Amino acid sequence: MKSKVIRLSKSCLGENEKTAVLKVLDQEYLGMGKEVNQFEKILSEYFGRTALCVSNGTSALQLALQAINIGKGDEVLVQSITYVASFQAISATGAIPVPCDVEEEFLSIDLKDAEKKISPRTKAIMPVHYAGCPGKLSEVYKFASKYKLRIVEDAAHAFGSKYKGKLVGSFGDISCFSFDGIKNITSGEGGCVVTNDKNVIESVSDARLLGVEKDTEKRFQGKRSWDFDVTRQGWRYHMSNIMASIGIQQFINFNKIAKKRKELQGLYISLLYKTRSIIKMLPKREGVVPHIFVIILDKSIDRDLLREDLLKKGIETGIHYVPNHLHTFFKNKIDLKTTSRIKDSLLSLPLHPDLTKQDIEYVVENLLSELE
Ligand SMILES: *Cc1c(COP(=O)(O)O)cnc(C)c1O
Repeated sequence: MKSKVIRLSKSCLGENEKTAVLKVLDQEYLGMGKEVNQFEKILSEYFGRTALCVSNGTSALQLALQAINIGKGDEVLVQSITYVASFQAISATGAIPVPCDVEEEFLSIDLKDAEKKISPRTKAIMPVHYAGCPGKLSEVYKFASKYKLRIVEDAAHAFGSKYKGKLVGSFGDISCFSFDGIKNITSGEGGCVVTNDKNVIESVSDARLLGVEKDTEKRFQGKRSWDFDVTRQGWRYHMSNIMASIGIQQFINFNKIAKKRKELQGLYISLLYKTRSIIKMLPKREGVVPHIFVIILDKSIDRDLLREDLLKKGIETGIHYVPNHLHTFFKNKIDLKTTSRIKDSLLSLPLHPDLTKQDIEYVVENLLSELE
């Protein structure tokens, strides 16, 4: 066993984050206030549209769906291969997540399959930017306009990624990001909703603070509402100053983080190129900041055994993801062709900005020797 375990993913923090958190602690105002306001301003400027900070990526998705009036009995199209957060956010609204297949190139939602699942109750589609890549997003927008669907992008993996030269979140209907501990940038836990739809902005601003009308402005001045009305279902989903202070420092450092992620991905691709007959990689696309590095193993390879053997060498790996229609809570007997073909062959290799070139070489060396 290697003395140091190479982690699949981790939070990568510096002294600046620590200093920023201590400063918030010293201020003795930990809730939603000045730092959250500042983080929102930074993000809104970055995206060129309004960004609203919330408690995590899952609550961002739920609040976005509720803001477009998705609720009981409605259906939302979503790929089955995604984090369970996408599915739980949909079902939290009372709506039904309708599991769809993925296309083979980028593992984004397969629109031919999605089309078969359209019903009179279909209200929205949730494309997931798997591994940081927005897949076939312009086709998703065409599809949505044909069937009059709203689009809530699950951009949890895609902070900083560009699609056809445009920053994800800077265009389209609604984009939701996650800042959880291992995402492209972190605020500890956290997330944001980005849009220019005025109704959505108003709805999310209030709904994240228990539905208390216009409480956001008060809190940003260090005050709170005492005499208020509540007109909608709300949740305790706001962000705290502690989280925002971490997020701000991560944002300042983001160019470095993004560059490192891209370099490590590039290194994997060049080292694994010669094994492409048994290891399929997702294509590298211009502008994408890779969040995870996923390979698809040949059918002949026992993935779970391989994972155990790599762990003995000190290499953590992951599975992104068990298809959600196989979970007890979302059980659905449908057959998703590509999903069922690849589900036992998906393997994620370590990818985070604290890894070195030598770490990646060690991972690939051991992977290849296991496959010999
Ligand atoms: C992380 C993630 C989310 C949810 O974000 P949290 O901040 O963890 O709640 C949603 N969708 C995908 C695909 C994710 O990876």
